[in-house]
Amino acid sequence: MINERMFDLGDEPSAIRELFAYGLARKAEIGDENVFDYSIGNPSVPAPEKVRDTILALMDEDPVALHGYTPAAGDPRVKQVVADHIRKQFGVPATPGNIYLTAGAAAGIAIALAAVTDPGDEVIVVSPFFPEYSTWIGTCGCKRVEVPALVPSFQMDVPAIEAAITPKTSAVIINSPNNPVGAVYTRENLEELAAALERKQAEYGRPIYLISDEPYREITYGKEVPYVPCVYPRTIVCYSYSKSLSLPGERIGYIYVSDLMDDAHDVSVAVAGAGRALGYICAPVLLQRVIAECIDEPSDVEAYATNRRILSEGLRELGYEFVEPDGAFYLWVRALEPDAQAFSDRAKQFELLLVPSDSFGCPGWVRLSYCIARDTIERSMPAFKALKESYQ
Ligand code: PLP
Repeated sequence: MINERMFDLGDEPSAIRELFAYGLARKAEIGDENVFDYSIGNPSVPAPEKVRDTILALMDEDPVALHGYTPAAGDPRVKQVVADHIRKQFGVPATPGNIYLTAGAAAGIAIALAAVTDPGDEVIVVSPFFPEYSTWIGTCGCKRVEVPALVPSFQMDVPAIEAAITPKTSAVIINSPNNPVGAVYTRENLEELAAALERKQAEYGRPIYLISDEPYREITYGKEVPYVPCVYPRTIVCYSYSKSLSLPGERIGYIYVSDLMDDAHDVSVAVAGAGRALGYICAPVLLQRVIAECIDEPSDVEAYATNRRILSEGLRELGYEFVEPDGAFYLWVRALEPDAQAFSDRAKQFELLLVPSDSFGCPGWVRLSYCIARDTIERSMPAFKALKESYQ
C-alpha cells in the first residue's frame, strides 16, 4: 500500500508549477518572445563571477577529499564562516554549533518545523503565504492556522495573531521580505509581534518559536530589514542563497538557531535530529565551499529595481491596483474580478501568465514574478492594456 497523503501531495497540482509548465509548452508553440511569463521566481540575474571562479578553482583540488561527505550539519570550517558572517553583519553572538547547513530554505523550514513541533500542534502563518508551508506543516501532523495580513499595508495583524495563539501553538512562520506581496515587516511590527509572543509564552508556560523564512533578505529597495533574532530571541532563521546569489538549483542555505534563546542547545540538537530523520544531511558539498568563499558577495538588485519600476509605472498608468513592493521580486495585483483563477485564465488569452492568489491563502489577487527580462515587461504592456479593456 502506498501512503495516501504522499500520493495526494504528488498528485496535487501546484498553481505556480502548472502555469510554468503551460508557459513552456506555449513558448514552444508560439515562440518565447510572444509569451509574457510572470509565473515563477527564478532569479534572472546571473550568479556572481566569483561563484564560477570558485567552482573552477575547486576542480583542481583532490577529488576524493573534495567530493566526500562532510558531517551531517556541514563542514565545520564553513559553519564557522557563516557564524562569523552573522556576528559581523548583525552583532549577535552566533556560534557554529547553532548553524546547520542545508538544501535551501525549503529544507530549512521543513527541518525547523519537525524540530519544534509535535503532531497535533498548531503553527501560525500570515496569509497570503508561500504555499509549501502547508505541505511542511501537514507533514509534521500539525494544524495550519492562517491569520490574514493587514490590507493594504500587508504588515502583520499582531492582535489577530495573538488572538489565534492557543496552548497548542508551537511556532509562527514569518517571511520578510515577503513572497508573494513584497512587504517588509517594520521594526515596530516585529517588536509588537515579539511582545505578543512573550506574553503568550508566559501565559501558557510553553515556548513559541518564530521561524523566520529569509530567502529574500538581500532583495530590498531601500527599506530596513531588521534581524529577527535581535527582536525575538526564540527565533530560528531559515536562510538561503537561492535568490541572494542566484543559485536556486544548487540547493544551499542554512538554519541558524539564535544563540540568544535560552534553549538554543536543545533546539540545535533537535534540528540535527530532524535533519537526520528527513534525510537532509551533508548539504551539497561543492556549494558549501562556494558559500565559504562568496559569502561577502553583494546581491545584484539593480535589475530587479528597474523591473519593479517599469512594471509598477506601466500598471499604474493602466489603472491596475497593486501593492508597492519593498522587497523580493513579486508584484501583488488585484484581479479584475473576484475569482482570481478566472482572471488568470482570461489573462492567458493575452499570453500573460499570472499566478492566481488562492493557493497563497488569499482570494482575489494575482502574483507577478518580475525576475524576468526587462524587455519582456516592456513588451507585455499592450497585453495588460487589452486584458483591462476586456473587462470594460
Ligand atoms: N520560502 C519562500 C518564501 C520562497 O519564496 C521560496 C522559494 O521561492 C522558498 C522558501 C524556498 O527557497 P529555497 O530555494 O531556498 O528552498
